[in-house]
Formats: sequence, C-alpha cells, structure tokens
Amino acid sequence: MTAPHPDTLTALRDLTRTFAAERDWQQFHTPKNLAMALSVEVAELVEHFQWLPTGALDELDERKREGVRHELADVLLYLVQLADKMDVDLREAALEKMRMNGEKYPAARVKGDARKYDEY
Ligand SMILES: [Mg+2]
Repeated sequence: MTAPHPDTLTALRDLTRTFAAERDWQQFHTPKNLAMALSVEVAELVEHFQWLPTGALDELDERKREGVRHELADVLLYLVQLADKMDVDLREAALEKMRMNGEKYPAARVKGDARKYDEY
C-alpha cells in the first residue's frame, strides 16, 4: 500500500496551503499569528507531560499517547506553515543546524556531558 501523499515536508506544506486556501484562512496566517499558534501547540504538547516523573512511554496511558501524537502533528503543521511564510526551506535549515551543532558539540569533546557549549 502506498502513502496517499509523498513523505516530504514539501508535500506537507502543499497540503497546508490547500487546506488554508479552501477555507480562505491565508488572511489569518501572518507570521506572527503562526508563531503564536505554534507556541500554543507546543504548550498543549507539554501539558501531556506535566507532573509526570519523566514522561517516558510507560507513564502515559493510551489517551495521553494519542494526545501527544496529535499535538506533535499540530506543532509540525504550524512549523511547516510558518517556515513557508518566512521562505525558509525547513529541511535545508534543519540540515544546516545539524551541521552547526556538530561543530559546536564535537562528539569526542562532549560525549556524556549535557552542558551548553559555552560552559566548557
Ligand atoms: Mg493542539
């Protein structure tokens, strides 16, 4: 069975464009509004972990796991839409940051150490 849509961020971006256009919602999707919506969805995600010892899978029942799954999707969808509005190629930006993080945190130097780069 094939997926209904290509497994790419670009395909996801196109779906969000169509979804918003069909509802005439682009007018509300300013970068500021999308950034705020993203922040709200992150808070909704975090709420599922509130007061749990670690948030590991075995601490979440099925309902909470489903909630986490949906909030992760909400976060991704707003992230994709915000990146679209800001003309950011999200995949390229993520790869760039991974390269930068690799330089900032060389494995040989930081292995097993969670301190921030400026604390070494
Ligand atoms: Mg949500």
